[in-house]
Amino acid sequence: MDHPLFLVDAMLGKLARWLVLLGYDAKFAGGAGRGDLELLEEAQREDRIFVTRDRRIPDVAGVRKVVIVHGQFEDQLRQLAGELSLKPDPALRFSRCADCNEPLETLTREEALPLVPPKVRTLETPFWRCRRCGRLYWNGTHTDRILETIRSLGL
Ligand SMILES: [Zn+2]
Repeated sequence: MDHPLFLVDAMLGKLARWLVLLGYDAKFAGGAGRGDLELLEEAQREDRIFVTRDRRIPDVAGVRKVVIVHGQFEDQLRQLAGELSLKPDPALRFSRCADCNEPLETLTREEALPLVPPKVRTLETPFWRCRRCGRLYWNGTHTDRILETIRSLGL
């Protein structure tokens, strides 16, 4: 499957973040206590695959749904990737904010350096910022760890 959009229910926050890190537009339904039908309608309206742990979610015409059966995010990601034959595009990794799913903007070094901790200023890395929450991103040891996990999952 090339690049589906997702709506991920409140029980799967970690899975939602990992989908975003992989470059997918994965909206997290969060803990706002929204009803199943409201979420299904949103998935239908925005053409998103609904990802849930709740087996009792009704089938709705026109909404593709994946019921995750595993507890660990690695297994969850493997299940989802397997069921949907996902092929994440490496060029899209880290292109969205892991907190709010918003596409990131690139900052110049001049813009970014005053905003980051001193030891980050010495890194050879591009910088990005989330337009919505302002969080800054750069390549460091955390990105290496994430890439290692992605590789170990065969993604
Ligand atoms: Zn953000």
